[in-house]
Amino acid sequence: MSGRKVKWEEMFPDEMAQAIEEHPLLYLPYGMCEPHGHHNALGLDGIKCYEICVRAAQEGGGVVAPLNMWHIGEQGVGIPWLARQNAPQPYITALGYELFAQSMVWHLRAAVARGFRAVIAMTGHYGGTECDMRSVASVFNDYVPLPVWALADWECIGYRQYKGDHAGPCETSQLWALRPDLVDVSRIPPHEDGERIFASDLQPGQASRLEGERIVRSQTDNLIDGGNRLLERAPAELVDPGPEGARAICADLMSRDIEWVYQMDPARHREYWSAEGEGGKHRQGTIERNGRMG
Ligand SMILES: [Zn+2]
Repeated sequence: MSGRKVKWEEMFPDEMAQAIEEHPLLYLPYGMCEPHGHHNALGLDGIKCYEICVRAAQEGGGVVAPLNMWHIGEQGVGIPWLARQNAPQPYITALGYELFAQSMVWHLRAAVARGFRAVIAMTGHYGGTECDMRSVASVFNDYVPLPVWALADWECIGYRQYKGDHAGPCETSQLWALRPDLVDVSRIPPHEDGERIFASDLQPGQASRLEGERIVRSQTDNLIDGGNRLLERAPAELVDPGPEGARAICADLMSRDIEWVYQMDPARHREYWSAEGEGGKHRQGTIERNGRMG
């Protein structure tokens, strides 16, 4: 299926109908512009995620929704994080978490309304946003049993020890493989080891385009496999809740007592991601499963 058209916004209606008929899986890619060192384009998170989805869909079938680059940032745990990054003007495309969460409800509703039977919602911007996306999917599933795999892209890496980072050897290599025009390691200025400059501590020589290819290969394999399994368990019929239904789900979502991970105070967030915390246990489990969907 390589070379096939998979980008929603570039399809003619007959191509879209055929793609959904053949493999009714929708990829929802998310990211956010934010500092990623002097050597990576600001949109690394979203572009990486989008290009991985495009490769997976070209090979395994399905459609990729338009990339959403407005994400949860500059709030909650993002504030102390940013303060440590040595990036005075961070060029972030942030959105309040309540708006992002409700947008995602509408994206899932659109998937059902357009005839998709399963969704892979993947974010390249992580550190808690992936957990919040799973909370959204879980509430949506109380209304519509649409199979949804919500994840951060690092969670489907099954190659060596890589498990994501921020503008370090993993992410830089991924973008280098996917969009070589958007990585320029010659832009890394001389600096002390470990000193954060524009939110990266990457040292020259640590990233590799070839390693990036291998990381991405493992991700596309896992996404294709995961998507097939989601479709196998899709119910015979999914009922579109309609725009009014989407609004009602949003209202319910915001009224629930959800612990939004990206909004945690720093102490609670540290506890959450510790080896004993919920997030830490989940992270460890994900790594043990070698990036495969649980
Ligand atoms: Zn990133």
